[in-house]
Amino acid sequence: MTETAPAQTPGRRDSAADADVIVVGAGPAGSTAAYYLAAAGLDVLLLEKTSFPREKVCGDGLTPRGVRCLVDMGIEHDGAGWIRNQGLRILGGGMRLQLPWPDLATYPDYGLVRTRYDFDEVLVHAAEGAGARLLQRTAVTGPVIDESAGRIEGVTATTADGGTVTFRAPLVVAADGNSSRLSLAMGLRKRDDRPMGVAVRRYYKSPRHEDDWMESWLELRDSSPEGRDRLLPGYGWIFGVGDGTSNVGCGLLNTSASFRNVDYKSLLRGWLAGTPEEWGFTEENATGPIRGAALPMGFNRTPHYTRGFLLVGDAGGMINPFNGEGIAYAMESAALAADVIVQALARPTPAARERALQAYPRLLQERYGGYYTLGRIFVRIIGHPEVMRLATRHGLPHPTLMRFTLKLLANLTDPRGGDAMDRVINAMTRIAPAAYGPR
Ligand SMILES: Cc1cc2nc3c(=O)[nH]c(=O)nc-3n(C[C@H](O)[C@H](O)[C@H](O)COP(=O)(O)OP(=O)(O)OC[C@H]3O[C@@H](n4cnc5c(N)ncnc54)[C@H](O)[C@@H]3O)c2cc1C
Repeated sequence: MTETAPAQTPGRRDSAADADVIVVGAGPAGSTAAYYLAAAGLDVLLLEKTSFPREKVCGDGLTPRGVRCLVDMGIEHDGAGWIRNQGLRILGGGMRLQLPWPDLATYPDYGLVRTRYDFDEVLVHAAEGAGARLLQRTAVTGPVIDESAGRIEGVTATTADGGTVTFRAPLVVAADGNSSRLSLAMGLRKRDDRPMGVAVRRYYKSPRHEDDWMESWLELRDSSPEGRDRLLPGYGWIFGVGDGTSNVGCGLLNTSASFRNVDYKSLLRGWLAGTPEEWGFTEENATGPIRGAALPMGFNRTPHYTRGFLLVGDAGGMINPFNGEGIAYAMESAALAADVIVQALARPTPAARERALQAYPRLLQERYGGYYTLGRIFVRIIGHPEVMRLATRHGLPHPTLMRFTLKLLANLTDPRGGDAMDRVINAMTRIAPAAYGPR
């Protein structure tokens, strides 16, 4: 189909329901996209079905990659509510290893933890501060399609007062998370050839709440009768939140035979039952229920641009398959999409705009494609319990190997001028074919 690009002029609106760009969903991806678009002078509507502050199921951990995104947006992250960490503590194979975040030119050398209850609100305020128009309790119900042009030209939504409104813009950004109903309505389904994870988490009052290391346990076992105590491809985490509680959870990849049959709540409880009593990870100290959600990884929904419609964050399946980190990728992809949109809307003709928009999937591919291909291979390999067993037993005792592994798993290298490890990882991601592939 030949696509006709938007004809509207940025900045000129007939009604409050019209905008240059509509962003659907105000999680990290949506707020970041709205922030950059508004900061560039575009009229942005940010539509969110919930209202802030609101709970969001997450581990609440930011690696230095995520911190960099905050720095880019000028978001203060010192003081109340933020807790810094200096690296990753790994437990497994009877070992305990502390790996500081690498010293790099590109990324800071610290990570952060902040509950998503506050974190997402901080980001949405940044978007509003830049000029985005946030409408809360506004649930998008579907796309509006310009049939003659074959493009999206807006969305329908139910609003806080129960009414139905049509919002119009020549470009729509889907930042509505893992299930992305809007993408589905645009005909974009999840790809079953891409990795998927499931993770659960719970908050516990704990003396470990001020831990300044992100802790990761590599030995999760399937203790069900059919599981025969098999090692599972995933990990458990303990992240101090600094407010008297720890965020404790575990996640699994879909490459193990156990994936569909695992009872995740029992898996979490079983693991925590083996942790020291004084840490306090018991039923009485839990401050809420166990909650879980899916982790869409390695570009599991494509294409990322079609007919005036761009996918960012979980909606586009951007989670890192190596470590389950999604916030940084949500924010980075959103910043990239915003940049492409700003450039596109500044072009004088529909054809030139469309050309500029087509760059978005290409840029994503260039940035993450090879790395996600490696991630898919990694996910397949660790799906075998024997590989997990060998990796924890023989990998952990080698600090240099583990420093390399940390850089690879957290995607923390300098693109230029880094050390030998950076050069090896960068070469591997360049050699690996980009993760797109034909649909
Ligand atoms: C248990 C668990 C632990 C995790 N731990 C970490 C971690 O420690 N670190 C990390 O980096 N990542 C972690 N992740 C992944 C991370 O949570 C996601 O990658 C991240 O939230 C993606 O951000 P997003 O903005 O794309 O989507 P979301 O955060 O899901 O935001 C989507 C937004 O869209 C809104 N929305 C949805 N539908 C509509 C609609 N129809 N109309 C209007 N609004 C709508 C939602 O209300 C929501 O506000 C974890 C995930 C899970 C499940």
